[in-house]
Amino acid sequence: MRRVYLDHNATTPVHPEVYEAMQPFFQNQFGNSSSIHWAGREVRKYVEEARQKVAELLHAAPEEIIFTGGGTESDNMAIKGVVYRWREKGNHIITTQVEHHAVLHTCQFMERMGYEVTFLPVDNYGLIDLELLRRSIRPQTILVSIMLANNETGTILPIKEIGEVTREKGVILHTDAVQAVGKIPINLQDLPVDILSLSGHKLNTPKGIGAQFIRRGTKLFPLLHGGGQEYGLRAGTENIPYIIGLGKACEIVRRDFQQRVSHLRRLRDRLEQGIKDRIPDVVLNGHPTQRLPNTLNMSFVGVEGESLLLNLDLEGIAASSGSACTSGSLEPSHVLLAMGLPPEIAQSAIRFSLGWNNTEGEIDYVLEVLPRIVQRLRDISPLYQRRRHQVERI
Ligand code: PLP
Repeated sequence: MRRVYLDHNATTPVHPEVYEAMQPFFQNQFGNSSSIHWAGREVRKYVEEARQKVAELLHAAPEEIIFTGGGTESDNMAIKGVVYRWREKGNHIITTQVEHHAVLHTCQFMERMGYEVTFLPVDNYGLIDLELLRRSIRPQTILVSIMLANNETGTILPIKEIGEVTREKGVILHTDAVQAVGKIPINLQDLPVDILSLSGHKLNTPKGIGAQFIRRGTKLFPLLHGGGQEYGLRAGTENIPYIIGLGKACEIVRRDFQQRVSHLRRLRDRLEQGIKDRIPDVVLNGHPTQRLPNTLNMSFVGVEGESLLLNLDLEGIAASSGSACTSGSLEPSHVLLAMGLPPEIAQSAIRFSLGWNNTEGEIDYVLEVLPRIVQRLRDISPLYQRRRHQVERI
């Protein structure tokens, strides 16, 4: 059976060059980078090179980069680290209703710990109202945490404008850039962000490695206490092979960026247009243009998203009905609901997220298979006729 993987926002395959770069660090280069002897020193040199590569991709300084165990850890570290460090100053956090659970659930936990959290609403595209953000900042606000790009819809939030507001108000801004890194240019020289989280496995490294940008002068407590690794901000002997892998992945992203992005955009647009041309009653979820070049989230009115996913899977096509953490449950996506979609339209959503190694042939295969499946599911859906009228109202 043909296999087509269109779920790169969930995870990506390891790049062969990343895999190759990691190899020596499983065997010969086994030292502990904190050791002062030759074995440690050699490894330390490579870790610092990797740090430099992550920094270069983001236009940051190497000492502003901390390696972590992934996106979830970075998000937790940013939120808990800032909130605990600044608890004397205030107890109020601002985030949005469309964050990944790594941020959303952490903020909900902080609420249970006695902090106050404002979850900003979004419009139909998943964008926030900057004026509302400004008005929501109080003297007790110690952190604003807003994602750079949404994992489900690909909508890109105006983080520069958001940062201008937080700078003016003197509040720390954290952004979850897990989906944005590698897909849109990020220049921290002119982006007023204080802390930025990223994850390796969205960039073709293995799972379980991430990084945190912490702007010089931004103060937060570590999440993990122990040794003094990572400038005292992330204790624990470093995961050397994975750090090397992340460095390599960032180097590749920088090298291939333009080519990758235009390839992704071309294929994504081909898929989007192809679906619109072949299937009636579809709704695009997310911003039409202010969107990651690889992401396409669409609702197929009258069809259960999960059924569509299973049928696509039978044809060898891997997609998603939302974030990977919520698939498997039939709850409509919190992101789509926050964007004002009626639950049944949210439940009929499918996310296709492309990777640099997808081909035109794969997209055409999806365009050949998908209309048939949608038609079949609609034929047996007693609700389709009723639901299609809802599209006109969206
Ligand atoms: N934030 C966003 C926006 C994500 O999409 C993800 C993963 O899907 C995460 C955080 C969590 O990253 P990790 O899987 O590396 O823990």
